[in-house]
Amino acid sequence: MHRITVIGGGLAGLTAAISAAEAGAKVTVYEAHHTLGGRARTAEGPYRTNDGPHALYNGGPHWAWLRRRDLIGPLGPLPPLEATRLRLRYQGALRRTPPFAMLKLLRRGLPQAPVDVDFLTWATGIAGEEGARAAAHYSAVALFHHDPGALSAAFVQERLRRATKLPPEAHYPRGGWASVVDRMAAHAWNLGVRVETLSRVDTLPTDTPVVVATSLDAARRLLGDDSLTWPSGRTALIDLAVRTRRGDAFAVSDLDAPGWIERFTAQDRTLAPAGEQLIQGQIPLAPHESRADGVARAEELLDLGFPGWRERVTWRREAVASGRTGAVDPPGTSWRDRPAIDRGNGVYLAGDQVAAPGVLSEVSFTSALTAVTLALAQPGLGRRRGHRDPLDLKQA
Ligand SMILES: Cc1cc2nc3c(=O)[nH]c(=O)nc-3n(C[C@H](O)[C@H](O)[C@H](O)COP(=O)(O)OP(=O)(O)OC[C@H]3O[C@@H](n4cnc5c(N)ncnc54)[C@H](O)[C@@H]3O)c2cc1C
Repeated sequence: MHRITVIGGGLAGLTAAISAAEAGAKVTVYEAHHTLGGRARTAEGPYRTNDGPHALYNGGPHWAWLRRRDLIGPLGPLPPLEATRLRLRYQGALRRTPPFAMLKLLRRGLPQAPVDVDFLTWATGIAGEEGARAAAHYSAVALFHHDPGALSAAFVQERLRRATKLPPEAHYPRGGWASVVDRMAAHAWNLGVRVETLSRVDTLPTDTPVVVATSLDAARRLLGDDSLTWPSGRTALIDLAVRTRRGDAFAVSDLDAPGWIERFTAQDRTLAPAGEQLIQGQIPLAPHESRADGVARAEELLDLGFPGWRERVTWRREAVASGRTGAVDPPGTSWRDRPAIDRGNGVYLAGDQVAAPGVLSEVSFTSALTAVTLALAQPGLGRRRGHRDPLDLKQA
């Protein structure tokens, strides 16, 4: 039987562990933290905030894979009335519909944007500068960068399309992403995966192929390889609980600058105590901006979409997520240019900043499947009879 070591028990590590075990390997997962999930952890206590991911996009490759294994669980459906409460800040005021010029960039049949040109230049040629800027700022909900217009046009266009599709691709696992993590962990356990929590790995094992499913920063330190870098965003995060008020916005997207505020209890009442609403916002920060700058912008959006919120606050928390929101691709680069999954000598990277396609956590998922496929195909390991290739999604 093949043995595989997985370092890191987030979405990438759990995906790698499950797919390797399904392919017949004997898997051990080492996780530094006392619980699994990594950035997909959900806080315990009265306010069930997600550390990282909120939206599971049903257009992604992970959706079908998780669903086939019954790992998604119940979703928090967005009531139709709440869906009508999406607001956009444009030229300082709230509105319900995007500016007409921005719609030109959402048209079906628009050619695929080029990799080599920045989004603002490409989109301005189609929608004019105002429409291009509004679209770039909207896309920040799925890329967490302070200047989406300066990134590769192809990269931003994919995220803009995914984030504006109707019906929406975004789905919300009830109880937060911890519920998906718990299901994945239970599934891994049933497949015989050994999980060692509170086990930080400092040296790579040499007796088995290794999938390093940590953040890219942690992988760089672990492999001692300074080339393991790729740009990501820096984002101010604001989490609030407020007493319920009828008519509050469901979400406010800032089209004047990148930023997004969402009332997550609109789709999942279990996230806060009765009579309270859980609101979370993310405001991408430029290098010269501080957390306070981001929080001030978030408060402007709150003032517009949640009248009287200051008097209704029952709980509040702020943070900055730096390099934790996945890869962004500058002009002239695509996911293919990011650090390669195969590092040689039986070491493979999985995570959201490596060379794999997808949006946000989908990169972790896809890279994990690729890493396992490569690890199991290693010369000398041979192939088990009846071995199922984890990357063959049809078969999986
Ligand atoms: C604010 C925010 C919002 C987001 N929103 C979304 C969203 O809406 N949709 C979406 O799809 N994605 C979203 N993401 C991205 C998503 O959270 C990540 O892409 C995904 O969780 C990354 O999973 P991972 O397993 O690759 O990495 P991680 O979750 O970082 O897991 C790595 C694990 O490795 C462990 N580890 C590290 N070093 C070691 C070591 N030496 N030994 C043992 N263990 C180690 C860590 O403790 C951690 O548990 C968001 C992220 C953030 C921060």
